[in-house]
Amino acid sequence: MAGAVTDVSWLTGIERASPQALGLAMLATDPHAWRLDRSAQLAAVSDALADGATTARNLHDRFAGLRPRGIALELGLAVEATDDDPLVGSIWRFAEYRPRPPSIKLYDRGLAALEYAVCGSLAKRLLGSATPQDVFIAHELYHHAEAIRTGVPIARRHQTTLFRIGSWHWQTGIAVLAEIAAGAFAQSLLDLPYHPRVLDFAALDAISKLRHRLDYDRTPTREGRSEARKENNIAK
Ligand SMILES: [Zn+2]
Repeated sequence: MAGAVTDVSWLTGIERASPQALGLAMLATDPHAWRLDRSAQLAAVSDALADGATTARNLHDRFAGLRPRGIALELGLAVEATDDDPLVGSIWRFAEYRPRPPSIKLYDRGLAALEYAVCGSLAKRLLGSATPQDVFIAHELYHHAEAIRTGVPIARRHQTTLFRIGSWHWQTGIAVLAEIAAGAFAQSLLDLPYHPRVLDFAALDAISKLRHRLDYDRTPTREGRSEARKENNIAK
C-alpha cells in the first residue's frame, strides 16, 4: 500500500521526547492518574518502563534469535488473524491478548491502516527492521508474561485513593501502566528506536479517515449516508 503520511513534522517533537516524557503523556490519559502527585507519577512511569524492559530481556535471553511470533508459539500462545471490525466505540484495535485459552488476536484491518500510514522511510525511522505485526505481537506477549507470573501486576503496584471514610480507603490501580510497560517491552525486545506509542501518532490521520469511512458505510439510510458523506468529506 502507498503511504498516507507525508507530513512528519510531529516526529521532530517525538524524537526529542524521552521515554519518560512519552510515558507521562500516556499516564495523563488514565482517568485516575491525576490523583497521584508528580513524584508518584514519575516513579510509576519509571517502574512501568523498567518492568517492560526487564521482562523483554528475560524472554530475549530465553528465546534468543526468535521473533515475537516464534516466542508466542514456544509459550503455547496461538496467534490468530481476524477480519473483525477493528473499531469498538472510540477504540481502534490492532491486537488483543486473551488469557483463556492464551492467545493473541491480530486485527488485520486495524493493522492495515497502520501499515498504510507507516511505510517506506517512515517505517524504517520508527520501526527499524521490525514490522507492525512484530510490535503488536510483542506488546501482547508482555500482557501474557504478566498474566502468568507471580507478583503484583504493574497496574496495581501504584494505587491511588478514590475516597475514604474514617479509616476505610477505596483504592484503584492505574491501568495505563500496563500499556506503558507493554510498549517498553516491545521497544526492548525488538530494539525499536522509539516507544511504540509513536505509532499511534503516525496512524492517527489514516485511522480517522478510515473511521469516517466506516461510519459512512454503517449509516443505513440514503439521507443519512448523504449527510455522513458531507460531514466526513467522503467521495461516493
Ligand atoms: Zn496492551
